[in-house]
Formats: sequence, structure tokens, C-alpha cells
Amino acid sequence: EQTDSRPPLQILLAAPRGFCAGVDRAIKIVELALEQHGAPVYVRHEIVHNKFVVDSLRAKGAIFVDELNEVPSGAHVIFSAHGVPKSVPLDAQDRGLDYLDATCPLVSKVHRQAERQVETGRHILFIGHSGHPEVVGTFGQVPEGSMTLIETVADAENVAPADTERLAYLTQTTLSVDDTHDIVSTLEQRFPNIVAPKGEDICYATSNRQAAVKAIADKCQLVLVIGAPNSSNSLRLVEVAERCGTKSYLVQRAEDIDFDWFNGVETLGITAGASAPEVLVRQFIARISENFAVNEQQVVTAEESITFKLPRGLSETVSA
Ligand code: SF4
Repeated sequence: EQTDSRPPLQILLAAPRGFCAGVDRAIKIVELALEQHGAPVYVRHEIVHNKFVVDSLRAKGAIFVDELNEVPSGAHVIFSAHGVPKSVPLDAQDRGLDYLDATCPLVSKVHRQAERQVETGRHILFIGHSGHPEVVGTFGQVPEGSMTLIETVADAENVAPADTERLAYLTQTTLSVDDTHDIVSTLEQRFPNIVAPKGEDICYATSNRQAAVKAIADKCQLVLVIGAPNSSNSLRLVEVAERCGTKSYLVQRAEDIDFDWFNGVETLGITAGASAPEVLVRQFIARISENFAVNEQQVVTAEESITFKLPRGLSETVSA
């Protein structure tokens, strides 16, 4: 009879976690474009913020570039899930490039609201994180000067718009639900006539993943969030866990796990950002199982069934 010398470890897996419908669609667009047009297919920016995903698409013939001028004429180019400023598809047209737009439909929804608010003469206070490609893309939907970035409650307290009666606010899709609530309350208190977005701009995937990690964090001594350091929604998951008083790390690959973190940990929480594939979760658990006798339990806080249609001109082919 063999005895297991590994110490026991309970793992709580947050659900939902990992891929959202927008990421799923964006990856599918690149894969189908490669199938239909053959390699190479160019992709402007990381299609989604995950190195594993980007590397696997690169291996299939995708070439990732920062700017359109790196794409040779006559080539096919795909815009990332985060969305692009209006100038980008226009430039592509001018250059005669054949482009596909993998912008998540929920990001496009925010783009259209931005246009509409500016058309009705409102100035937009946009809640988001400076420099994130989604923010760059949304600012690029409207003329310069018609939108102001609000990153913090302090920004909301200090912003001084010219016309306080004609304001609207919109938000990035991957923000902290709780922080955004505080920022919005501040804005609504200062500007009672500010127009709110139609429905929530923070997307279903972001809020579901935050609620799911909240449900496990206080039962764990450590929460690992699988995701990339440039992934906004993944960073927010770390914050949510830490606000529940639980130590949390953002980890990209199973190899990056540091087992010193596990001292005193009896229950470990695991979740994954919207751009992290489930295969990475399995790799994490496999690595942890080398050192611990793992007992895995999934904690489901919501079911997701949403899927998005592919862009016109890209038919879903049957492939193995
Ligand atoms: Fe779309 Fe939300 Fe996924 Fe971003 S996180 S791609 S907005 S579903």
C-alpha cells in the first residue's frame, strides 16, 4: 500500500472564469481567416491579451504588428477585440487592405453610444484606464476634445467640464464593478443631469468573473488569477480577491508559480481572466498536484450562454 506524502490542498475553482464570448469570437476570426485566406494573416495588436493565445496563432501563421503601416499592401489584416479608433479602418481602406474587425460587439456598443452622445452635443466623461487599447479605440470614435478620461474618484471630484448640464458618462468594459460604482456616484452627485449609458458598459463577463472570485476569496488563503499583466479584467480580479482580505497573485504560466506562496495555505482559489484559455488552468493544477494532494471543487455563481455572430464575409467552415 502506497501512502501519499503530499500535503492535502483544497482548490476552489471560480466559475465563470476564463474565455468570454468576445475573446472566443476574436480568436475564431483569426483562425477562420487563416483557413480561408491562408497564411500569413496580419493582426494589429495582440488579438486578446494572452501570450499563450498569441503564440498559438503565430504558430498557425498570424503575424502580429503594432501599426497598419507594417502590413504589406494586398494583405489581410484583423483588428483586435479591444477595438480601434475610427482612423484605423479608414487607413486600411485607403491602403486597399482587406480587413476584418474582431472588436467585441460589447465594445462596439460603447463606441456607438459615444458617437450618439457627441452628436446630441454632450461632452463625455469616460471612465477607464489610460493607455489601454480599448480606451484608445473608444476615444478614437469621437472628435478630439469631446471626451475626458476619468480614472479615479479623485478625477471625478476634480473634473471641471465647461457645460455641466450637457454631460454623459460611459465606461471601459473591463473595469472594477465596485470602483466604477464609486466613481459614478461622485459624478452623479456633482452633475445631477449627467446621462448614464444605456445598460451597463461593464460587460457581463467582467462582472460575472468578479462576482465569482468574490464568492471564493474569503474561503481561501491564496487566490491565483491566471492572466496577463496587460489584461485589465485579470488585474481587476486580483484587486477583488485582495479586497476580500486574501493574498492574490496574477500569474501568466504554471512555471511562474512560487511554492513559497503556499505556506499556510489550506484552500487555494483559482480563476482566470477573460483572455486566458482553460488549458492554462489545467496546467496550473497539474503543476500544483506535483506538490500537493489536490482536491478540486468548482464554485459556480452564474451560467453563461452568450455567443456572438462572426463578421459578415467570414463564414464558419466545418473543420476538425
Ligand atoms: Fe467583450 Fe467583455 Fe470579453 Fe471584453 S471582456 S471581449 S467586452 S465580452
